[in-house]
Amino acid sequence: MNSFEVEALNRRLAGAPPDVILQEALRLHPEGLRLACSLGLEDMALLHLIRRAELPIGAFVLDTGRLHPETYDLLALAQDQYAPLQVHFPEATAVEAYVNTEGLDAFRRSLALRKACCAIRKVEPLKRALQGASGWITGLRRDQSPTRTGLGAFELDWAHGGILKVNPLIDWSLEDTWAYLKAQGVPVNPLHHQGYPSIGCAPCTRAIAPGEDPRAGRWWWESPEHKECGLHRVHGP
Ligand code: SF4
Repeated sequence: MNSFEVEALNRRLAGAPPDVILQEALRLHPEGLRLACSLGLEDMALLHLIRRAELPIGAFVLDTGRLHPETYDLLALAQDQYAPLQVHFPEATAVEAYVNTEGLDAFRRSLALRKACCAIRKVEPLKRALQGASGWITGLRRDQSPTRTGLGAFELDWAHGGILKVNPLIDWSLEDTWAYLKAQGVPVNPLHHQGYPSIGCAPCTRAIAPGEDPRAGRWWWESPEHKECGLHRVHGP
């Protein structure tokens, strides 16, 4: 596909429900689609939807080594309930080099060190997880952050060789997501009930106050336009 075809697809499917978007993705790529499951609200909804409908879409989790204990509990549960769920870890030698050179929590010292940590613990494992994939599925929603307002349901991901990136929940609100999870009885991270709308690594995520921006608890020491970990960079070549 080229970018014009993707734009036309986004226009044709504007406002379509997630299952219709997933079916279109499967029509384009009957094989090789993979869900990147962060175990957050949106990805648990998608994992449930995909497995319940028995769609031929693989699923994987990136274990950064710095997740909350509650997230590891959910991972174990999800592996039981929604198998197969592949887990990818960072390269041990890269983690050791970073920690031994800069320090375990060096990501607080500068944006560059934070991005370097995310590159080792998230971006490189994602590249491995997507090797051989025809496209990947994410739980991005347009109203999650200022960096996501212009997203469509379909994108071309040039950071991973121009493969298709599919965001089936792009038009869902947080309320839509919760309504689906509750109606379907999907297990969720208990931290969501303790003020964590968005959950990443434990040292880089905090609870937010009522009315705060949903992404305010991620890398809270940085300005909003920097609040991406590098997993969702798709800009053209
Ligand atoms: S979120 Fe924090 S701990 Fe996790 S990879 Fe990024 S900088 Fe490292």
